[in-house]
Amino acid sequence: MQVHVADHPLVSHKLTMLRDERTDSPTFRRLAEELVTLLAYEATRDVRVDTTQVRSPVSESSGVRLSSPPPLVVPILRAGLGMLEGMQRLLPTAEVGFLGMVRNEETLQAATYAERLPDNLAGRQCYVLDPMLATGGTLAAAVDFLVRRGADDITAICLIAAPEGIAKMEAELENVPVPVTLVTAGLDERLDHRGYIVPGLGDAGDRLYGIVD
Ligand code: URA
Repeated sequence: MQVHVADHPLVSHKLTMLRDERTDSPTFRRLAEELVTLLAYEATRDVRVDTTQVRSPVSESSGVRLSSPPPLVVPILRAGLGMLEGMQRLLPTAEVGFLGMVRNEETLQAATYAERLPDNLAGRQCYVLDPMLATGGTLAAAVDFLVRRGADDITAICLIAAPEGIAKMEAELENVPVPVTLVTAGLDERLDHRGYIVPGLGDAGDRLYGIVD
């Protein structure tokens, strides 16, 4: 897996504000969207394009257009939804599929509880949105799901990643015959005993949408 940690002062500024426990939900949502748009710029560096001709008011020239089929953006419910608008701002013609995965807080294992994706993802570039790469179980399961459907190029965009999550992804995806890239705004220190990223930003879903028991 290729790991790309975005190195830009605006990324660091927005990430710092997201971490701040005083940042309220409306501000958190806005910052998360802005940050994802910046990360999406990095993440789409290898988005597939076809060459084309274009006529400007002045002359004919060559250019590029996004290839068909368009990229598929897959937010992991619930917290990944908070990243969707920021991604669509940069890639408005992408299609969107949904994957609902939940982490059992005792076993830390990921399970799929909802799915709305094309049956056949052959030839599709997929961009998976999940704010926190913590233990890596959810993201590894999501990537495996997409590969089984035929996706042939997968980029995960995470606001923050933990070393343990990256190690788990690398171990689980060792034999996956598809290129997988991770783009993140921050590589943090470690996980705590509850599986939270340290220093992290807390529970991303709760900070986006409030606490649901
Ligand atoms: N999920 C979160 O929302 N935050 C963490 O720190 C880890 C997993």
